[in-house]
Amino acid sequence: MILAANFKSNLNRAKAHTYIEALEAFCTQNAIEDRVIVFPPASALRESSLHVKVGAQNAFAARSGAFTGELAQDQLDEFAIRTVLIGHSERRHVIGETQELIAEKFAYYQKQGFEIVYCIGEPLEVREEGNEALLEYLEAQYEGVDLHYSGLVIAYEPVWAIGTGLTPTLQEIELIHASIKERTSRPLLYGGSVKAENAREILALEHVEGVLVGSGALDVRDFCSMIADAKSLHVQKEKHRS
Ligand code: PEP
Repeated sequence: MILAANFKSNLNRAKAHTYIEALEAFCTQNAIEDRVIVFPPASALRESSLHVKVGAQNAFAARSGAFTGELAQDQLDEFAIRTVLIGHSERRHVIGETQELIAEKFAYYQKQGFEIVYCIGEPLEVREEGNEALLEYLEAQYEGVDLHYSGLVIAYEPVWAIGTGLTPTLQEIELIHASIKERTSRPLLYGGSVKAENAREILALEHVEGVLVGSGALDVRDFCSMIADAKSLHVQKEKHRS
């Protein structure tokens, strides 16, 4: 499974580094084999450690240049960053990134061989129209995106569930994930108000291959508890098989 934490614009450099060090220690002590990724703010980027991959929350589609306020590939290379988050709903809906710009970033970082955690998700008014409208909406977010790219990880994050404490029902998550899985075989994460209390039941669902967590992961103990849940689910599944 893949367990990813998006710090957004939270935690300063010192706090983010303390967090990452505690996370690394937890993963080492518990022999964690799942993939753990953190996306700290740009000011706290650093190299990945043995168990904790560090990714960028955003990057401009260029090696360097006149793009005020943006990080480009040169700045990621400095920390050997090879994972980037693209299409996050806050970049789409708060910052105003268009699908065209998102696709441009995708194509650029795909060409550079980066792992891309690509976010898709519908606003509430679309969900209220029903499943057909929802899937059509997601389809538009695949525009310009290579769904078969070997470095792709998809995160399905309903916009109305991000940072709100609301989540779809487990059945709804299963249903949408099954539909997305018909379009791509790449790993599929769920995101949107995942927290220590509900991570286990979400991780246990079919077609959920991990979680992308924002506010619920800001305390490292909570994120570690989700990682422990993922590990114990593997053990349970193994027992079930034998
Ligand atoms: C996110 O930032 O990707 C996210 C899912 O946020 P939250 O967990 O806070 O809803």
